[in-house]
Amino acid sequence: MAKENARVIDGKAVAAKVRAEVAWRAAAFARKFGRAPGLHVILVGDDPASQVYVRNKEKAAREAGIAGVAHRLPADTPEDDIVALVRRLNADDTVDGILVQLPLPAGNSEQRVLDQLDPAKDVDGLHPVNAGLLVSGRKALVPCTPQGCMRLIAETGVSLVGARAVVVGRSNLVGKPVAQLLLREHATVTMAHSRTRELDALCRTADVLVVAVGKAQLIKGSWVKPGAVVIDVGINRNDQGKLIGDVEFDSACEVASAITPVPGGVGPMTIACLLSNTVDAAESRRKQG
Ligand code: NDP
Repeated sequence: MAKENARVIDGKAVAAKVRAEVAWRAAAFARKFGRAPGLHVILVGDDPASQVYVRNKEKAAREAGIAGVAHRLPADTPEDDIVALVRRLNADDTVDGILVQLPLPAGNSEQRVLDQLDPAKDVDGLHPVNAGLLVSGRKALVPCTPQGCMRLIAETGVSLVGARAVVVGRSNLVGKPVAQLLLREHATVTMAHSRTRELDALCRTADVLVVAVGKAQLIKGSWVKPGAVVIDVGINRNDQGKLIGDVEFDSACEVASAITPVPGGVGPMTIACLLSNTVDAAESRRKQG
């Protein structure tokens, strides 16, 4: 009997749907309040990858009818000046979302800068207040990539209630928030990291496997439970410069029921969810204000 291959989850198509919803909501906001929702991105230094990310964010914001502004600061900008800019944007009523593009140049305290953000404008969901609200099961601005992962899982139609979910990676940006979101949907969640023993056996227990490590093809197809949903957050480059994920895609495809590709899976969802968070922040601030 021929092997059935997993359904490949089309992140670009799902992201296009999210962006269309955002554009509709941004237009409604502009009609009601006489201005578009405003997203301000702070980029310090000239890291080439960050420059590409920021350009993509500006373009996506424009296309969705969001007023996107990038603040490009030289690499040697004193940390106090970055903090001063964050405070100025906090105080500006036309600014709904603020994103500090990470990493900041060496020598800056990312924690200090992120702590200055007004939690109501923290569209990356990295301020401790938003992280705490998420853990408490309360309304929060949720980090974009984890939100994107959940939307892709929902697309597969898998029920998370009582499902065994394994999250590999425990960063504040991806692993921890995605685990909280899975828990909120009543999955039984186990988190794994670099000190986890018998990672292969643990992964084989997962009905839903989310991998956010940053190590090319760490997870082998033989580690995947038959029928599992696999979400690969990792972005790595192989020797030929091609983008590949943390999961060995071809072998995992033979076992999983659904899997995200790299590129074209989680990646496109991150920007779409950033735009969605910006409109959420704009609407919430108006309701509170
Ligand atoms: P971090 O480096 O912050 O975290 C990596 C995590 O992986 C850590 O918790 C680390 O464990 C764990 N880890 C490292 N090695 C192993 C191992 N051998 N076995 C098990 N766990 C391990 O990365 P991020 O969470 O920021 O990003 C992860 C990946 O996702 C990267 O490739 C990044 O580029 C990508 N990414 C993609 C996005 C997208 O839009 N698609 C957005 C954000 C990230 P420990 O805590 O013990 O050190």
